[in-house]
Amino acid sequence: MFEISEVHAREILDSRGNPTVEVEIYAGEYMGRASVPSGASTGKREAVELRDGDERFHGKGVKKAIENIEKKIAPRLIGMDVLAQRKIDLMLIALDGTENKSNLGANAILGVSLASARLASYLLEMPLYKYLGGTNAHVLPVPFMNVINGGAHAGNDLSIQEHMIAPVGAKNFREAVRMGSEVYHQLKEVLKNKYGRNAINVGDEGGFAPPMKELEEPFEAISQAIEEMGYTGKVKLAIDSAASGFYTDGKYTVQGKVKSAGELIDVYSELISKYPLILLEDPLAEDDWEGFIDITAKLGNKVQIVGDDIFVTNPKLIKEGIERKAANAALIKLNQIGTVTETIEAVDMAHRAGWRTFISHRSGETADDFIADFAVAVNSGQIKSGAPCRVDRVEKYNQLMRIEEELRETAKYAINA
Ligand code: PGA
Ligand code: ZN
Repeated sequence: MFEISEVHAREILDSRGNPTVEVEIYAGEYMGRASVPSGASTGKREAVELRDGDERFHGKGVKKAIENIEKKIAPRLIGMDVLAQRKIDLMLIALDGTENKSNLGANAILGVSLASARLASYLLEMPLYKYLGGTNAHVLPVPFMNVINGGAHAGNDLSIQEHMIAPVGAKNFREAVRMGSEVYHQLKEVLKNKYGRNAINVGDEGGFAPPMKELEEPFEAISQAIEEMGYTGKVKLAIDSAASGFYTDGKYTVQGKVKSAGELIDVYSELISKYPLILLEDPLAEDDWEGFIDITAKLGNKVQIVGDDIFVTNPKLIKEGIERKAANAALIKLNQIGTVTETIEAVDMAHRAGWRTFISHRSGETADDFIADFAVAVNSGQIKSGAPCRVDRVEKYNQLMRIEEELRETAKYAINA
């Protein structure tokens, strides 16, 4: 048993310059540190991120969450065995006592949960992916790189939030990163030539945020960059529509045009026939379960239909999604549910149903690379951490290259590849 001896928390800044929670947990001289990310296009049913709402940081301060860690969580945590991750997480859930973690704050709870896991891995002198996933943790995920930003992540007029490239044809993770980076820089040239220099400014996730007007312009530009690099067939496309963001009164407004769910599904169907799209995340809004069921029936045999806002990494909602056939894959964000244990439960539930999972960063990130290890631990086979640009994004990809190196010939790149 390794007893937790001390707990500290502090307010730090995330990649957008907003405050977030950082936690340090000690067992004697050993210390595990973790920080918590933050979303901009959050799902309604996500666990609650506690914000102070006072005059500091435009109301976004996290001093209450810090105080909850130091005054309420620490006294319970000190003396516990840091190797008992599940017990720690269940204690945090019980201490909070609410369904959505609004009492202590999911940001407070997750910081503690992540830091505990990291400390445990240090104490056992074991890489984090191996501590979390055991000896079978060996699948390096396909990196889905968000190269054109829109929606809530950019100051342009694109309705679709994320346009991603997926180097599925790479022979290993390191090569996937190279291919992704090469396409990204080729895309920069394509955009500069076609739209001018102001098209190469980047959005919150490091992807370009060009002043495009038409739905298909990003697909055209990305396809051109892929072709110019000679990666046709090897680098595929994916999107996160984050459709809750353009849904009101049962209708979707896409690039200025109002559409029903059925009409929007037709748009996706056409995009799939024209471009090598392999995955659609949140193609419909979080409240539009019927739309999700419809698109899964129509397009689920061709592409992954990934639920993000609709399931919010919540095992109960994923279970409902499985029963109602509302998707065939689940997006996984640790801070949507708030503990490592519940996130692993969500992944397990999805995998047991034959669903794919897709491990994800948030648009507001820190340098913490926990999700890289987590993706390998659960053998997800898929991760998104933004563009191959900006430290908050690339640090996850860099950590995955380190893990691949360490696993050597036992590493396997991608599932079904
Ligand atoms: P968010 O967006 O982190 O801003 O919520 C990411 C996503 O929708 O997947
Ligand atoms: Zn999403």
